[in-house]
Amino acid sequence: MIDQHHLDALGNIVGPKGSVSESADQIPFVTEWRDKFVGKTPLVLQPQSTSEVSQILAYCNRNKISVVPQGGNTGLVGGGIPGLDGSSEILLSTRRMQSIIEVDALGATITAEAGVTVSELQGAAAEKGLLFGLSLASEGSCTAGGVFSTNAGGVHVIRYGTTRDMTLGVEAVLADGSIINELSGLRKDNTGFAISNLFAGAEGTLGIVTKVCFRLFPAERSRSTAWLAVPSPAAALELLSLAKEVSEDQVSVFELMCRQALEFTFRHIDGCRDPLSTQSEWYVLLETASTNADSDNESRKAQILEMALSKGLVSDGALAQSLQQRQDFWRVRESISEAQKLEGGSIKHDISLPLRHLPEFVVEASNALARKFPGCRVTPFGHLGDGNLHFNVMQPANTDKHAFLDQWEPMNQLVHDLVTQYGGSISAEHGIGVLKKNELRRLKPVAELGAMRAIKSALDPNNILNPRCLFD
Ligand SMILES: Cc1cc2nc3c(=O)[nH]c(=O)nc-3n(C[C@H](O)[C@H](O)[C@H](O)COP(=O)(O)OP(=O)(O)OC[C@H]3O[C@@H](n4cnc5c(N)ncnc54)[C@H](O)[C@@H]3O)c2cc1C
Repeated sequence: MIDQHHLDALGNIVGPKGSVSESADQIPFVTEWRDKFVGKTPLVLQPQSTSEVSQILAYCNRNKISVVPQGGNTGLVGGGIPGLDGSSEILLSTRRMQSIIEVDALGATITAEAGVTVSELQGAAAEKGLLFGLSLASEGSCTAGGVFSTNAGGVHVIRYGTTRDMTLGVEAVLADGSIINELSGLRKDNTGFAISNLFAGAEGTLGIVTKVCFRLFPAERSRSTAWLAVPSPAAALELLSLAKEVSEDQVSVFELMCRQALEFTFRHIDGCRDPLSTQSEWYVLLETASTNADSDNESRKAQILEMALSKGLVSDGALAQSLQQRQDFWRVRESISEAQKLEGGSIKHDISLPLRHLPEFVVEASNALARKFPGCRVTPFGHLGDGNLHFNVMQPANTDKHAFLDQWEPMNQLVHDLVTQYGGSISAEHGIGVLKKNELRRLKPVAELGAMRAIKSALDPNNILNPRCLFD
């Protein structure tokens, strides 16, 4: 338990508007959006400045008080939820750090405080005729600090890279309260270690990110969207190569979905309809985009479709003829997670594989799951262009959800073992958090895990920063 005098001292740093101590008011902070993780904390602190974050960490470090950072609380692996094992941890929320500091149109950068949401970053860039390249279904809530700390991906990685790729530097507060500032927006700086990079994917275990400088891109001025039925993931990969070539590398979205996942959206989500009249086992949502308003995107797309049909890579397809039709396609894709939740229990695997092995993996993993967990419904979908699949497995129809979810660990092990055999990753974009730390320990090579631990203990010797996350 943290003594009351510590809680009072920490509360004084942020003032009355910056702390939440009533448990009823803390519910949104200690509950994960799927209700998979529900924690507790004696105190939520909401600092408004880097200086307040620094004072909080210096105090906590001196008194060995654990701190869990949180941004938009959209993380899916429990990394931002305090007190999950009953221990007493302060929650530090960045929600009140909401300023966009600068949009530099000439240098094509945006610098913002950690609590600014991805939607706000996109809007601020668009006002200057530029584009913030990250796009994900949680963008209305997830924050600059959160996406950087989890190295979030989303649907445009194929074109603009992961959050790490589009970050030029951060300001971060270390466990002892000292501040690292690498916000100058330099493209080139070879003066030793790239310290900012350490915080990408660290999930709040190495420091608290207080500001981020992201690179921006020229705005997309024309776009074309197609919904395509494909016979298999192997055909989808060939289609990807074809689309890249014919579009002169302008593919900005390449999402794969299995039929089963779509069925869930048609069943559970209002306004989701099948864009095609014929059925297929697999589908691709393909977008190409150009910075040229007069680009011949549409004719290129028609060319891709024609060539793909003649090669048997596509059996049917629809090109979006209006903004409404494009939104209808996207509604189906973006409703899959929500529809799965409404269909019942699903066991998640957020994996990536070398592209060349992906089709083989899908067949082998599906067969192995069917043998070991009869009746389970494998529903893969995801960002195929990045080799990233959400290889989710739904409970058998009309069975008990909780009995199915009890098999989370053995099912994860089966899938992750295969992923590892194929040289893939057990966390492509959501991170490790508390959910996958046993699997990380089991499967990450010893030398890499050792290096991670050495960095952690050098930067946070008292282990006050998110101590249950990533490591045991
Ligand atoms: C509907 C939905 C769709 C999603 N789609 C995607 C997707 O396509 N791609 C993807 O990658 N993810 C996706 N996610 C997961 C999630 O949105 C991302 O992980 C996101 O980056 C989390 O940002 P956040 O601000 O909500 O962070 P939080 O959930 O608050 O925190 C996540 C982790 O980062 C740490 N953290 C947060 N802020 C800071 C900070 N300032 N300094 C240090 N550590 C910090 C926390 O301690 C925690 O470990 C999705 C989630 C939902 C709910």
